[in-house]
Amino acid sequence: MRYQSTRNSEIRITSADAMLQGLARDGGLFLPRILPSLSPEVYHTTDYRRLATLILHPWFDDFTIEEIETCVNQAYASTFDTKTVVPIVSVGNRHVAELFHGPTAAFKDVALSLFPRLLVLAKEKSNIQKDLIVLVATSGDTGSAALTGFKDIEHLTILTFYPNVGISEIQRLQMTTQDGKNQKVAAIQGNFDDAQGAVKKFLGERGEDPNFLYSSANSINIGRLLPQIVYYVHAYNQLVENKTIEVGQPIDFCVPTGNFGNIFAGYLAKRMGLPIGKLICASNQNHILTDVLKTGIYDRNRQFHSTLSPSMDILVSSNLERLLWLLSDGDSDLIVRLMNDLKTYGRFVLPKSIHEKLSETISAGYTSDEMTLRTIEEVYANHRYLLDPHSAVAWSVANPYQSDRPMVILATASPFKFPASIARAMNWTIEPDLRLITTISEITGLTIPKSLSELSKKPVLHHDIVAIDAVDRYIRRCVRENV
Ligand SMILES: *Cc1c(COP(=O)(O)O)cnc(C)c1O
Repeated sequence: MRYQSTRNSEIRITSADAMLQGLARDGGLFLPRILPSLSPEVYHTTDYRRLATLILHPWFDDFTIEEIETCVNQAYASTFDTKTVVPIVSVGNRHVAELFHGPTAAFKDVALSLFPRLLVLAKEKSNIQKDLIVLVATSGDTGSAALTGFKDIEHLTILTFYPNVGISEIQRLQMTTQDGKNQKVAAIQGNFDDAQGAVKKFLGERGEDPNFLYSSANSINIGRLLPQIVYYVHAYNQLVENKTIEVGQPIDFCVPTGNFGNIFAGYLAKRMGLPIGKLICASNQNHILTDVLKTGIYDRNRQFHSTLSPSMDILVSSNLERLLWLLSDGDSDLIVRLMNDLKTYGRFVLPKSIHEKLSETISAGYTSDEMTLRTIEEVYANHRYLLDPHSAVAWSVANPYQSDRPMVILATASPFKFPASIARAMNWTIEPDLRLITTISEITGLTIPKSLSELSKKPVLHHDIVAIDAVDRYIRRCVRENV
């Protein structure tokens, strides 16, 4: 398996190097041209860890299967509050894949429990003596998941930038109360796009550093992206197991989307052979992806909305670049042109053939905050099932696409992470987040995730606020002063 940059097909590196670099120096994203296929054994594997090993090893074939197996087993041994890792729950005529049973109660945990182990192994294998600096831009959930996954790893420092408005109080506390020795957390005076832009700029422009190796824990890094393929296959197998479908029958997935990483992993699962009918990209009021599917024009010259699903408040969805590269048969010249247009004019226009392929590949829709709240209320009233705002966006967008085919809704966060929105949806009195989580638990009978119930006892340790154009300097200072 050789990984190429979406912006330069001449680059061919191993998965270990691709993880260590995170982003190619030309700003492109790593991906192989020829994708592995699912082995038949996969469909008979119900154990999540075994399944992850079988699916992931072909992508990381510079590692031995035993190495992958060890990483996977450690990642999912006791960090999740359920043995199945990702439970699939029937809600009405739909199936909800609960991706939020990890240590920070959002789907980012699934990949970020595994990725740090793969990255450390990659460094050992490559015989690199430098210390690793892992940079993270977060729309709210990646931050705490990455900080937890990378906590106190030797010779590694993790720097996280989160938007100083928009995220929930719980999300903020999950980051600012982190007490690891190798962690730095800063609010950025901007939104996620600003944070991601600054990190990508830094990584794109970093020179060779004699002492440090810089990488990323966002889904721009394949080590973060690929472990997300596993739960698509796992959801499929669970529906086979409970006799909803037989092997070979297609099912649909609806994915609450921001940076396009989660749904792109679903596309990779499909390319590997998983019978997926429709892959539906669900957005909130920041519906740039729905628009590009409809018109073939990606235009970020528009208002940015802070919505009730903040982890999806994104206008520059990095992983779309990977899909366009695959759909254009690896035409890196085209990708360079499109990304230059995006940088210069804030927009690009897809060639007609690529636009057609894109709209055949992905379906899309968006919904408002008002509908999100109504969905939370209705699904609870009808099914006694509590969706978080992001998962509610997916539920709502899936409505016009519901057919006889089974529909899996990816539930990306625990409702306890967004208590104020839940209270609004249910018409409860609005109280501080840390009080509301108790209310939610008392009324619904759901258990508060352990890490969230402990938040009220933890002191806030991180107070830095950084201007967008000072991120570069901030990173260098942190690294120089050893956090
Ligand atoms: C990150 C996140 C998303 C968006 O996922 P992408 O991979 O960025 O598209 C959706 N919901 C929640 C709760 C998230 O944390």
